[in-house]
Amino acid sequence: MRTYHVITFGCQMNKHDSEHIAGLLESRLGLVRAEDAEHADVVVFNTCAVREGAEERLIGQVSALKPLKALNPNLVIAVGGCVAQHERSRLFQMLPHVDVVFGTHNIPELPDLIARAASGTPALSVPDEPSLDVERTPSIRETRWHAWLPIAVGCDNWCSYCIVPRTRGRERSRPFDEVVAEAERLVADGVVEITLLGQNVNSYGRDLYGKPRFAEILRAVARTGVKRLRFVTSHPKDLSDDTLRAMAEEPAVCEYLHLPAQSGSTRILRAMNRGYSKEQYLAAVERAYELVPGLALSGDVIVGFPGETEQDFEETLDLVQRCQYDQLFTFLYSPRPGTRAAQLPETVPSAIAQDRFERLTELVRDSALEKNRRLVGSTVEVLVEGPSRKDQDMLAGRTRTNKLVHAPFPAGADPASLEGTFLAVRVVEAHAWHLMGEVAGYQRQ
Ligand code: SF4
Repeated sequence: MRTYHVITFGCQMNKHDSEHIAGLLESRLGLVRAEDAEHADVVVFNTCAVREGAEERLIGQVSALKPLKALNPNLVIAVGGCVAQHERSRLFQMLPHVDVVFGTHNIPELPDLIARAASGTPALSVPDEPSLDVERTPSIRETRWHAWLPIAVGCDNWCSYCIVPRTRGRERSRPFDEVVAEAERLVADGVVEITLLGQNVNSYGRDLYGKPRFAEILRAVARTGVKRLRFVTSHPKDLSDDTLRAMAEEPAVCEYLHLPAQSGSTRILRAMNRGYSKEQYLAAVERAYELVPGLALSGDVIVGFPGETEQDFEETLDLVQRCQYDQLFTFLYSPRPGTRAAQLPETVPSAIAQDRFERLTELVRDSALEKNRRLVGSTVEVLVEGPSRKDQDMLAGRTRTNKLVHAPFPAGADPASLEGTFLAVRVVEAHAWHLMGEVAGYQRQ
């Protein structure tokens, strides 16, 4: 029996694409999933070009498969996703033992490319425009209880540091009714949590209907019977009161908002082409806290963007302090070839960028811990994801506000049967990035 293994880098959209890759390999080629690359006849890398680290990891991991290829000449190695879309045939030069290179727009073509490569001809196909609709192909979800549901792909924003508009193309929304019908199918299939996906999720519909319809689709999917509904990634300039009201009024929509700021300096935001000022971002956050009771906020910040001065960075510290994030994803700037920011001359010395990164991390840790401390003694609803990676006797799950919770499994409970169920957990201890608790009972299922 021939086997496959998929290795995914990067964002949720890539994770979702990998579910379609698995579905295609099983249904079209009859392959069976292998736990690791060592036991697979086909290894697929689904790559990300957003961060430099992801690309380096890809090169390291593909290179590490060379000895396997020597042992098993029939092994097929395929590389797809954003790095492949960007690098194309250069990947064959960088990694000569790769057999297939495919792009972000032609995942449905992958089985044919693998079949061609298996007969000895390396296969390259990286179309510039979407030709085949991946959403109409089979998919195998990572879990039975959670589903990624893309409502739009691509992006029209052209942030100066970002490669996504080049690798994923222009923003393309899926028809409203198609999305809702898919959500209904997922709920009927036992999914209790759906995450709506889009590179710029809250401008959903603008390309198709001439105006954003994100709040409407949020409400429509929330009413399919799904227990929890999330969405990523929102752009601050497109965050509307309608969306915030839908979050507050639809019980299924979780009170969690991921709203990347990227910088607290209006000067740097302009250089990033983000389309808002520091004040506008702060006003959006204030409105979100005002309209959505119990809101948890997360964000992204890039440190060391070209030309960032100490004063710019202090503006970022000020913004982070004022936003009271529950979680912040901080990144050291690295230039992506092909972006406008990569041409900017005034790079920030790495020691200075590193120092700023550490100061920022410390500030966020303090504010996240402070917010988590307020939860000690309360009971929260936790959706169980499975055993904790570090301790198999502990369960890991998430609150509606996306906080990671660990708690001992209830005595006598079968851990596998609790996966994807809701538990009431009393919070007993707060840490910056997770909560410790005790199971207090079973919740609605
Ligand atoms: S909004 Fe900006 S950072 Fe996000 S995908 Fe679009 S171009 Fe990239």
